[in-house]
Amino acid sequence: MILWVLPAENIKQRLRCKTKVYPDELPNTSVVIVFHNEAWSTLLRTVYSVINRSPHYLLSEVILVDDASERDFLKLTLENYVKNLEVPVKIIRMEERSGLIRARLRGAAASKGQVITFLDAHCECTLGWLEPLLARIKEDRKTVVCPIIDVISDDTFEYMAGSDMTYGGFNWKLNFRWYPVPQREMDRRKGDRTLPVRTPTMAGGLFSIDRNYFEEIGTYDAGMDIWGGENLEMSFRIWQCGGSLEIVTCSHVGHVFRKATPYTFPGGTGHVINKNNRRLAEVWMDEFKDFFYIISPGVVKVDYGDVSVRKTLRENLKCKPFSWYLENIYPDSQIPRRYYSLGEIRNVETNQCLDNMGRKENEKVGIFNCHGMGGNQVFSYTADKEIRTDDLCLDVSRLNGPVIMLKCHHMRGNQLWEYDAERLTLRHVNSNQCLDEPSEEDKMVPTMQDCSGSRSQQWLLRNMTLGT
Ligand code: UDP
Ligand code: MN
Repeated sequence: MILWVLPAENIKQRLRCKTKVYPDELPNTSVVIVFHNEAWSTLLRTVYSVINRSPHYLLSEVILVDDASERDFLKLTLENYVKNLEVPVKIIRMEERSGLIRARLRGAAASKGQVITFLDAHCECTLGWLEPLLARIKEDRKTVVCPIIDVISDDTFEYMAGSDMTYGGFNWKLNFRWYPVPQREMDRRKGDRTLPVRTPTMAGGLFSIDRNYFEEIGTYDAGMDIWGGENLEMSFRIWQCGGSLEIVTCSHVGHVFRKATPYTFPGGTGHVINKNNRRLAEVWMDEFKDFFYIISPGVVKVDYGDVSVRKTLRENLKCKPFSWYLENIYPDSQIPRRYYSLGEIRNVETNQCLDNMGRKENEKVGIFNCHGMGGNQVFSYTADKEIRTDDLCLDVSRLNGPVIMLKCHHMRGNQLWEYDAERLTLRHVNSNQCLDEPSEEDKMVPTMQDCSGSRSQQWLLRNMTLGT
């Protein structure tokens, strides 16, 4: 027992989870694990932890889908080994390397359980992981549930508890990110941290879903290759089409977070991920796909294939618009639901543009010749009157500057700007000064000056839509 090293609140939380009582009658589950070139030890650790730490009457079967691995021990050796396990373990082989999305689809199609539980091939389920997931689905079959993902170090295999205070989001580049659970969600749960967290997105590796509901809601986008984007695609789809997505905080499963993958991305990592993300953006994000395209303009050259089947699915399921999702499910999103402009911010006198250069936090915002290519020169002036690029906001904390990029905090304060569309000035409300061109000392960064009405304090906020 190492409970004593946990903060007191975490211990209380665990005890409250331990004393929860779940119904005897729960739906059973198939566990689908896809892998490509997985190590023997991590794969078997996953399988053993499922078998040893789940009540067997709740396990319909374990399905291993081999996505055309090249390692020899994953062939006959594995096949012979799993024959002796206490729960039926079925091995399915993909004829050719297909990626996790199509491999999971194959596993799902072969499953018989009432619920499908997807796991990565390097997990460790903890005691009591399964019952809370299945109980929540029994309560509401349209809820898709994730455990808390504990962290297994890929250096030492040390096991560290994951946090119940973060949930899933994403940024303008459509990278999945963890963010703090906002106060509104804590309030909705009346402070009871053993209740599930409604999460805007999921990490994607580990979740359970009612098998029929998985079908109804359109399984996965089979046009997505190898890895990436499928988790956001499914998250948006679930919310927009009438389901819900939750982190069940009383269920813990460990996952090895690895720095390198034991596999290649045929065609190039960037190409594959951009293609998948384009499919996701084109089908689900409506006009908000501009945020993705404008911050990574090279993406629009990537061919994303045919998405008409997925668009038809969206129509048939009568799914809600992305704006509804932003407003109701993810109001703290990095993508503003309402905004005044999305594009470059150009100085009238010098004709130069704000540029966040290395887009690092805590650095001064720069000013350079406008290139019209989006990327570092894209900012959105939002309805909340922040000037943001992705998750960073223009922030001034002292009179006369400097103007730096800080994580947006939604608290107004030093990140509140008033744009005067007639005078074309950007007035920083707290300091009551105006954004101005660079000084003689440093020609690369804008300054803050008392508002004077000069041309150097005039800015054009452009609306650009690259590639749409
Ligand atoms: N995977 C697969 N085929 C692929 C890529 C990944 O079957 O082409 C499997 C991989 O073995 C793992 C799961 O998909 O079980 C998720 O991939 P990974 O763990 O690399 O993703 P991460 O956890 O890093 O997001
Ligand atoms: Mn993984």
